[in-house]
Amino acid sequence: EREQLKCLRSLPPVTRDGTAIAIQANLELPRDLEQALDQAAEGIGLLRTEFLFMNRDDLPDEDEQYDILRPIVEGMGGRLVTARTMDVGGEKLAGWMVGRYGEPTNPALGLRAIRLGLREPRLLETQLAAMLRAGAHGPLRILLPMITSVTEVQTVREMMLAVARRLRRRGVRIADPLPPLGVMIEVPGAALSADALTRAVDFFSIGTNDLTQYTLAIDRGDEQVASLYDPLHPAVLRLIQFAVEAALRAGIPVGVCGEMAGDPRYTALLLGLGVRELSMAPPSIPVVKRRIRTLDLVEATRRARVIMDQHDGGRIAALLDDFNAMA
Ligand code: PEP
Ligand code: MG
Repeated sequence: EREQLKCLRSLPPVTRDGTAIAIQANLELPRDLEQALDQAAEGIGLLRTEFLFMNRDDLPDEDEQYDILRPIVEGMGGRLVTARTMDVGGEKLAGWMVGRYGEPTNPALGLRAIRLGLREPRLLETQLAAMLRAGAHGPLRILLPMITSVTEVQTVREMMLAVARRLRRRGVRIADPLPPLGVMIEVPGAALSADALTRAVDFFSIGTNDLTQYTLAIDRGDEQVASLYDPLHPAVLRLIQFAVEAALRAGIPVGVCGEMAGDPRYTALLLGLGVRELSMAPPSIPVVKRRIRTLDLVEATRRARVIMDQHDGGRIAALLDDFNAMA
């Protein structure tokens, strides 16, 4: 089994009927890069930058962030790196935030991610500057977490343009052209606004961890309700489908980067819904790749249609298990 998975390393993630799927890596820490390269990831689909802000009292400046980002971009040797601006807050609460804003009454619904960045524009500008500079060393795109509206994206895009002008005036080398700007689809409101968002952004990345949490009102970290947390709930699947179809219609790239993308039980369904980019923790790459290589896309698409007519997550899981067992 292990040997078999090892052999997969040099084989491309292509379905049995010949469609290439992009398997990208999620990085939590810079040191995860090695594993992503080991697993021959096609790119970094999600570079989480929360580690820069956690377990410390001060804030990272532009140079510190650039010095961390640049080797990752260079290390990927021309493959795309998707850098997400800080998703601090929520279950990733930094100590200094509590000092500044007090204990949030509901962290998941509070000052988190892009909301924090817009409240503290200097923080976000610093991070955008570091990313623009890192983007001079290889292909990089910028991903915004917890977006709920087009207005937020427009504000950040203007901020990015202003930062770029400032850096150019200083004679600093930055990405040219400027990096694509994309959003996480991880709040139901964003998924339902997918059509409008496609006109404001360059790509989508669907975050099924938070999308499940917010759609079903289940705290993703609360053991007491963990059994109710179900990414196969039809409501979650409909939001995924809605966002994917909007992106495909608009012709912008769309991937999935939540835990769902790294679970081979769900691969057939996601591909059947039209997803062609999956980003996951590096250790998941071999098992997902193996599933992709046994998959017939025409059949997966047909199965996905049947699944989308179901109204129970348990029934959907059973249908998927049946289909996976045939592989
Ligand atoms: C998600 O919400 O699915 C996601 C990928 O982001 P994070 O797990 O970092 O919140
Ligand atoms: Mg998230």
